[in-house]
Amino acid sequence: MNRAPNADERLFNALTIDVEEWFHVCGAAGIDGLTLERRLRRNIERLLAVLDAGQVKATFFVLGSLAAAEPEVVKEIAGRGHEIASHGYSHALVHSLTPDAFRDELRRTADILGQLTGCRPRGFRAPQWSLSRDRTPWAFDILLAEGYHYDSSCTPLPFIGNKHGQRIPWRIELDHGTLWEIPPLVTPSWIGNLPTGGGWGFRFFPMPMIERTIVNLNSLGAPGVFFLHPRELDPDGPRLKMSRFREFVAYGSRKDAMERLKRLLAGFRFTTLGKMVQQWESA
Ligand SMILES: [Zn+2]
Repeated sequence: MNRAPNADERLFNALTIDVEEWFHVCGAAGIDGLTLERRLRRNIERLLAVLDAGQVKATFFVLGSLAAAEPEVVKEIAGRGHEIASHGYSHALVHSLTPDAFRDELRRTADILGQLTGCRPRGFRAPQWSLSRDRTPWAFDILLAEGYHYDSSCTPLPFIGNKHGQRIPWRIELDHGTLWEIPPLVTPSWIGNLPTGGGWGFRFFPMPMIERTIVNLNSLGAPGVFFLHPRELDPDGPRLKMSRFREFVAYGSRKDAMERLKRLLAGFRFTTLGKMVQQWESA
């Protein structure tokens, strides 16, 4: 699909990747990652090849514990010119942490990502959208104090986020400065916002519907922000035993996910969230 004919040429969209293993699924308790097969490196290599072919730079939200276990993967991603941001250390939900524990997760992750890449992360995404103004109002001040410029953890989806939340990025005014909040793409519908920007929704809903949503957001002057996990681009990968619904959300309908991604990259312009924020701040 071509770009929207009236789209502002300066507008960009963003592809974000939550860098974690196939077994880092929220709610799947008691998983012993040490004994499970690791698929991250090969999945990341396949993804990096597709991004290189499309000349697209993406934002990778990396789990600190995974960076410690597989430092070469992080170096490879950064070496190809992509943005490295933080997904926390242990994949704990932010609303399950105390403010001190959250700060500790941020610092441990920033320290290791800084050592590996030479840059401390400027962006954060909480595991499973578990950060919000209602449940963790303190988290935004901590992010700002720790040197973050943006957060991408508030989703305008029912059940897992705020169904009345904004679909376009906004500035959160805090006592000591401002932080950009960048929500993922969703498609409004009569039953509420649909999760077309990533996860099972990106793999399930028709591509023309997803593409129309990007065009619509771009016409409002806002980016379409996509989020994927490496396991979603691994159709033959293993699955954790979970309820049918949870298994579908984590692993279902993966067969054409990579083809969908290629179509998206060919049809629209993409940049990193970090560059997008820089552009907004200098406007
Ligand atoms: Zn995650």
